[in-house]
Amino acid sequence: MNSLAATRRLFEATDLEPVLARSVTVLGSTGSIGVSTLDVVAHARKAYGEHAMPVEAITAQGRVDDLIAQARAVRPRLAVIGDDRHYAALKEGLAGTGIEAAAGRAAIIEAAARNSDTVMVAIMGAAALEPALAAVARSATVALANKECIVAAGGVFGRALANSAAAVIPVDSEHNAVFQVLNGESAKEVEKVTLTASGGPFRDKTLQDMAVATPEQAVAHPNWSMGAKISVDSATLMNKGLELIEAHFLFALPPEKLDVLVHPQSIVHCLVSYEDGTTLAHLSAPDMRTPIAHALAWPRRISSPSRRLDLAAVGQLNFRKPDHERFRCLGLAMQAMRTGALAPTILNAANEIAVDAFLNRRIGFLDIARVVEETLSESPEANTPADTLDGVLAADKRARELAEGVCRRAVN
Ligand code: NAD
Ligand code: MG
Repeated sequence: MNSLAATRRLFEATDLEPVLARSVTVLGSTGSIGVSTLDVVAHARKAYGEHAMPVEAITAQGRVDDLIAQARAVRPRLAVIGDDRHYAALKEGLAGTGIEAAAGRAAIIEAAARNSDTVMVAIMGAAALEPALAAVARSATVALANKECIVAAGGVFGRALANSAAAVIPVDSEHNAVFQVLNGESAKEVEKVTLTASGGPFRDKTLQDMAVATPEQAVAHPNWSMGAKISVDSATLMNKGLELIEAHFLFALPPEKLDVLVHPQSIVHCLVSYEDGTTLAHLSAPDMRTPIAHALAWPRRISSPSRRLDLAAVGQLNFRKPDHERFRCLGLAMQAMRTGALAPTILNAANEIAVDAFLNRRIGFLDIARVVEETLSESPEANTPADTLDGVLAADKRARELAEGVCRRAVN
């Protein structure tokens, strides 16, 4: 063996410099995942030096003061606020820093299109779709936290990926876990992929309790601290339904190979079962900074500030089947996954409207499933193929209008 080549390989294998030199853009930097991402970046700079993980751009929708504070701390080249009424405040807040300021929806998409090695997609909802596609189009590495864009437009996203050199590293904890377990192997010999669900704050509540559940109760997740929308999705189990669809597209797994188990401790994030009877699991403490650090450093690993797993303190790991009667959103999502075509797009759009209406106290908690179900059954195009971005965006818009109508009827 050529010893020089072997030494060089060893050197390359231990040298983190190329990983730490990668520039990062964070879309949705003021949200739960965005803040955790910047925490991982700050930790890397402490651990490896100030030059680590240069930030190209950060974007937010409305919280301009948070965005200004983040920009001053992480020193991106560009900060973008989606709501352009805050442009003057952003410009003023960044005066003298040399950081460029921009505003509006187009500026967020341009931030994604701007040259950087990695784009963390941490915008909430299907609003992430076009920015994520802009990052894919220029062959960036896409650290994908957002799941709604895959649910709404999995086929379109897949084709965009096939036509670029972009890599998608899933950040959603279960999908990041599956990605790590599969480790680049094809999912062909896989018999089943099981995603775990904590069961959310209403795991052991009755339907009567759930009928009068408030937004405050619904967002009080037992294991994870997350944005309001995904917290409500976790309480309805729609989150797990969206994640099944996400896994279906990301790992090209047919619906019958996907399963869900309720696991209250949120320690095991996935189980991958093979044809020979082997099941491999992925474990970590419930802390999103772990999958975020993995996605930012892939295929290497970096130090992260996340909580460590202490199984002796956890004591036991429990598993049970989900209850489809109390958590109807899960079944609706599974049905939409099997239907395919525009059904997942409509399901996702209706759910975004219903969750927003619930958070604004316009409908009750159990109405969320009703709004999704009725929107799907009233949509004439659930079986229409989801071939083009324009087709998906138009279906998303129509489903939102229909769902708004169902919400209004729900209260009358
Ligand atoms: P969040 O509500 O805390 O933050 C959302 C971010 O997106 C904010 O920075 C906000 O300014 C920005 N944003 C909101 N609407 C926007 C719009 N229309 N255009 C541009 N930017 C917009 O949400 P989160 O909990 O951080 O979740 C973000 C995404 O990550 C979601 O798709 C969620 O499903 C997914 N995810 C989150 C977690 C978690 O632990 N929070 C875990 C797995 C997956
Ligand atoms: Mg998840």
